[in-house]
Amino acid sequence: MRIEQQIAESQAICAAATPGPWAVEYDSCGDYELGIDDTPFPMHLIGPKSQTKWDDAEWQREYGHRVSELSDMSGADAELIAHARTELPARNAQLLAVKQAVLELHTATSIYPGEHVTDAMAAQERGDTPIARLCLECSDEHIAEMVDEFEWNSSESGSVDYPCATVRAIEDAP
Ligand SMILES: [Zn+2]
Repeated sequence: MRIEQQIAESQAICAAATPGPWAVEYDSCGDYELGIDDTPFPMHLIGPKSQTKWDDAEWQREYGHRVSELSDMSGADAELIAHARTELPARNAQLLAVKQAVLELHTATSIYPGEHVTDAMAAQERGDTPIARLCLECSDEHIAEMVDEFEWNSSESGSVDYPCATVRAIEDAP
């Protein structure tokens, strides 16, 4: 699956969830509550029932839940849920930005035969197939100079074809 598709699916899951901010609050007994930060706790109660000192009746009076209704999810699990709603979209955006930045650095430069910029422009307008497509970022420095001067030829060593290894690695990333 393409990274873009995975990220779109991940973003849809995030967008469907309550925006938050989510938080985990601990009490002095080591019990914790997972909920939305700006609404009165407990919005959602999550155990751990195995550790709580409260009995069912007492808990029911206090919170309207029974202790036995709490899950045994750990505090670490609750922290993960609380962080996921904000961190996952942020990481998704960061990943797309990093991919974009690398691809903008490693672009295709099409080479057409000719000794002047007008030859290249005319070839492009005719829809000619370029004689080479290079990644100048990965090619030796003198290659970019030769391309600028319309002096590039295929026998010159130091050229790297586009897509270069960097672009292929990013595009093929699972
Ligand atoms: Zn490259």
